[in-house]
Amino acid sequence: MTAELPIHTAEKLTGIRAQFPILHQRINNKPLVYFDNAATTQKPQRVIDKIVHYYSTDNANIHRGIHTLAERATIAYETTRSTVQAFINASEKEEVIFTKGTSESINLVAFAFGEVFVQAGDEIIISTVEHHSNIVPWQILCERKGATLKVIPVDDAGELIMDEYDKLLSAKTRFVAVNHASNSLGTINPIKEIIEKAHQYGAKVLIDGAQAAAHLEIDVQALDADFYTLSAHKVYGPTGVGILYGKRALLEAMSPYQSGGEMISEVTFEKTTYNEIPYKFEAGTPNIAGVVAFNEALEFVTETGKEHIAQLENMLLKYATETLGRIKGIVPVGTARNKVSVYSFVAEGIHHFDIGQMLDASGVAVRTGHHCTQPLMSRFNIEGTVRASFAVYNTREEIDIMAESLERIIRFLK
Ligand code: PMP
Repeated sequence: MTAELPIHTAEKLTGIRAQFPILHQRINNKPLVYFDNAATTQKPQRVIDKIVHYYSTDNANIHRGIHTLAERATIAYETTRSTVQAFINASEKEEVIFTKGTSESINLVAFAFGEVFVQAGDEIIISTVEHHSNIVPWQILCERKGATLKVIPVDDAGELIMDEYDKLLSAKTRFVAVNHASNSLGTINPIKEIIEKAHQYGAKVLIDGAQAAAHLEIDVQALDADFYTLSAHKVYGPTGVGILYGKRALLEAMSPYQSGGEMISEVTFEKTTYNEIPYKFEAGTPNIAGVVAFNEALEFVTETGKEHIAQLENMLLKYATETLGRIKGIVPVGTARNKVSVYSFVAEGIHHFDIGQMLDASGVAVRTGHHCTQPLMSRFNIEGTVRASFAVYNTREEIDIMAESLERIIRFLK
């Protein structure tokens, strides 16, 4: 694979792969080929070490303690908040809220924004390519408030039909929630345009960045996003940590979401006043070790360079599209012009589960099924796909292994 990459990229890649201990093992007596990165990425050694280090030397509860360990834990936790601020270019770190993942971040906004700002008769716009996590919270909000859900359709390539979006927007539109990139198809959505158009009608916009954060530059100020969400575990970080970015004025005006310790200013049995942002939305003891270790993951991405990551992953996507697409019987699903490194396909007459299982026997880990996007699968009249999704540590040789296995499987099952 090195032949087609600039030398500095190839050298960097060798170094990168070595940092991920989980990759150096055999599955079913074959070298592991991990292509399930859209579900979760693997973790570099420095993230794993940080978790061990935190529990070995700094563990304490944060914010309220005055002893040394509490101070160290608090500093480490708040350091990650500043790193996230820089990573997404938020104007202040108080606009960065820790949650347990994108799902919780979206639920938080659907409840806490919806409680204050959404009324009967309002409309909320989502799109056909949304993950269930960016559909169901809005459906529940609509049911609770008597609002209506509208859906931007997609074309056969999996791109949003922007003319239809224009038609859905009106003075009734209160909120728009779409993903930056689709987990099932890889489509990168024109979010800047989506935000600009929504703002012309006074609507607020949430961008689900779960599939973008590891691949694309994020600048919430340049985008003018009102809310942006991501999950640490999809950016080489630990599970159980997510980010909600929100503009200060909106976060301050929103109702609390979960309540209890940390999110209060003063409690009496008669009345409680709430803490300032971000703490107002961080009730209870969070995943401190996870947040602390997430800092290492973000530094890994920044040091590797988003541009370098994009260059490498685009090369892998192009190679997979050519190599896998050439196999007889394979039909790609999602052929948008702009994609993150996701290759989804169906094989004529063969169930995706069978392919997934047989690839696993060859050491190749892919995802099969509806990928938590059932309405999108219905749009394409399919039950599910086989999805290979690539990360910075993957190689063209691994795609060759998958292609050879796939050819064998299709010959066998046909
Ligand atoms: N949105 C998208 C686009 C996703 O890909 C995912 C995870 N597959 C989610 C939301 C939910 O993320 P999490 O499970 O980390 O809450």
